[in-house]
Amino acid sequence: MKLTWHRRRVHLRHPFSIARRRDERSTERTALLVAIEHEGRVGLGEAAPSAYYHQTLDSSEAALAGAASMLAGPREPLGLDRGEEHDPLAFDAILDPIAARFPGESAALAAIDGALHDLAGKLLGVPVWKLLGLDARRAPLTSFTIGIDELDVIARKVAEAAEFPILKVKVGTDQDDAVLATIRRAAPDKTLRVDANCAFGSHDVLERCRALARYGVELIEQPTPAGAHDALPSVRSAGLAPIFADESCVGATGVLACAGAFDGINIKLSKCGGIRRAVAMIHAARAAGLRVMLGCMVETSVGIAAAAHLAPLADYVDLDGHLVLADDPFGGIGGAGGRLTLGDRPGLGVAPSGAAEPGATLHG
Ligand code: MG
Repeated sequence: MKLTWHRRRVHLRHPFSIARRRDERSTERTALLVAIEHEGRVGLGEAAPSAYYHQTLDSSEAALAGAASMLAGPREPLGLDRGEEHDPLAFDAILDPIAARFPGESAALAAIDGALHDLAGKLLGVPVWKLLGLDARRAPLTSFTIGIDELDVIARKVAEAAEFPILKVKVGTDQDDAVLATIRRAAPDKTLRVDANCAFGSHDVLERCRALARYGVELIEQPTPAGAHDALPSVRSAGLAPIFADESCVGATGVLACAGAFDGINIKLSKCGGIRRAVAMIHAARAAGLRVMLGCMVETSVGIAAAAHLAPLADYVDLDGHLVLADDPFGGIGGAGGRLTLGDRPGLGVAPSGAAEPGATLHG
């Protein structure tokens, strides 16, 4: 199998801020797109490295370069005899040695996992959701995210998001009350979810969540920093809204630690390492009595599609990363009105939406 990758710069429709990066306003993002070729078929994946999880484009590319040489040979690192072919459907046999060699590079691993699933679907002629044994009709609608901004800009964003019945609102500033009042005025009947991105402390989390809950929120995500969970049982017992972990729940080993402090977890492929590991997290979450949300970074339709095919397993879906882009280079996964498209096209079901960016080069 031949693994290659390239960087692709994409632009956001609106500058985007969250509580953890209040003084940063993102206007663009570099997507890291991965291709795995086998017997004339090409599977696509995407890495969305996050500085919060100590990943960069460079560290992701270093992991991809290592993985490319492991897949191309010599065969020994994968435990196969020299000359023996890799089976592209043997996901764990391929992914486990790569994960062991690059343990911090979950975003790169997710890209390889996504590309393998896309490739497998194309080789077998089935969409990934079918490969996973799921019923596409059970996929919940996705929310659409409203980032931290000035009140007049927020009102404009809410008006532009009229087609989306569920909004996820970034909170965690001293303007939370005004932000939610503004959104509720513009969207009195929409389902609202809020995400504080670690902004509250143990001393004020109950009061801050109580203030948010007054606006009728469906759930509250990551109110306090990762690991700072001591006050969360009292927030849960106040019965304000279900409390979800995001930054507090990175991979499968973090799931059980969330039981007791949280009602649910937000699973992102770039955090956990892809579809294969996300499924393991979902099973762990169900066993621990936790609800499941699927989330994302700002990603093109390639990265979002990999998560979208798992949507039938989730209670809540927050897969809007491609919808905030002005120039998504891929399409096929939908999202209009919050409805993601899980169609019958083989693999992830995504295709280029335009000509390749001039100067884009393949590496590996
Ligand atoms: Mg979050």
